[in-house]
Amino acid sequence: RNSKRQVECRRDISWLDAPFLAIYESLIPAEEEKAKQNQLLTLLEKHVRKEWPNAKLYLYGSCANTFGVSKSDIDVCLATDDLNVNKSEMLLKLADILQSDNLQDVQALTRARVPIVKLMDPATGISCDICINNVLAVVNTKLLRDYAEIDVRLRQLAFLVKHWAKSRGVNETYQGTLSSYAYVLMCIHFLQQRNPPILPCLQSMKTTYAVTVDDIKCAFFDQVERLRDFGARNNENISKLLWGFFNYWAYCHDYANHVISVRTGCILRKEEKDWTRRIGNDRHLICIEDPFETSHDLGRVVDKRSIRVLREEFERAAEIMQYDPNPCVTLFEPY
Ligand code: ATP
Ligand code: MG
Repeated sequence: RNSKRQVECRRDISWLDAPFLAIYESLIPAEEEKAKQNQLLTLLEKHVRKEWPNAKLYLYGSCANTFGVSKSDIDVCLATDDLNVNKSEMLLKLADILQSDNLQDVQALTRARVPIVKLMDPATGISCDICINNVLAVVNTKLLRDYAEIDVRLRQLAFLVKHWAKSRGVNETYQGTLSSYAYVLMCIHFLQQRNPPILPCLQSMKTTYAVTVDDIKCAFFDQVERLRDFGARNNENISKLLWGFFNYWAYCHDYANHVISVRTGCILRKEEKDWTRRIGNDRHLICIEDPFETSHDLGRVVDKRSIRVLREEFERAAEIMQYDPNPCVTLFEPY
């Protein structure tokens, strides 16, 4: 694998910029989708306010971090001021309330890792997951959204990587592959590491935004409109970056020793985090540090079998970018 390590693609792939950008554009949700999402949120707020007047609803995940492709489900967080609520009871009650309106497939999943109520709104056709007091997810949604505003190449890269991961079946956490959230962090880290860098490290800059959630201090620079030229000295286009991303994860990343960290903008060592051995089900075969919950490895879902699948997919993608006559099609072929 190391012998395939290279800093330049073996062929000029700038002719792929236009077709890759066309795919990116086709994945962007239309404005009317946003309107429908807000319509559903307003409906949910009306119901929630009747039962819990002090509760607030927040959108999080891909519908709010600008990495959502067209027709995604929406993620909603119900925040109460009572931090000791019994989440199961509250979710069952919420499911009950929503059932009585004409929402469909209302289900409370109280035993999931993140307990939720799921539903489908027939008026808008949108499916939605509602969780309780998952405020950290609301904050990491803001961090991702702020990064996306700095340089459009992040959104381009992340859309294509997510599209590739979904097409290739490697965006399934319950099967041991990675979440969309993990892939976006991998993209941010990759763009922080370009030379010259395309993205800064917002958490190591002056604090302009700070909140404490579950005893975790979340602080970063969020005046991103002042960083619009940050990546201007780097003129790499989407094809080069997409090739570089796959090449990095196929041949350059040191899986045995390294942890990628968007929080520090650097690569950390597994020893520093004590992620060197398996503890319970956490195997740390690919290490992606959560930017706020720093003890949380987003790669912990990956096991011995799925790490092989992932690495083979990164290699396949890197080879396609390099040699295939039609990467814009082959890359996204269903597995
Ligand atoms: P998709 O378009 O695939 O739905 P998404 O960005 O909504 O993408 P999900 O994996 O559904 O991604 O996660 C939704 C949100 O939940 C993320 O944006 C993130 O805020 C939070 N999240 C997901 N997984 C984790 C995790 N393992 N640790 C912390 N937060 C997470
Ligand atoms: Mg989602």
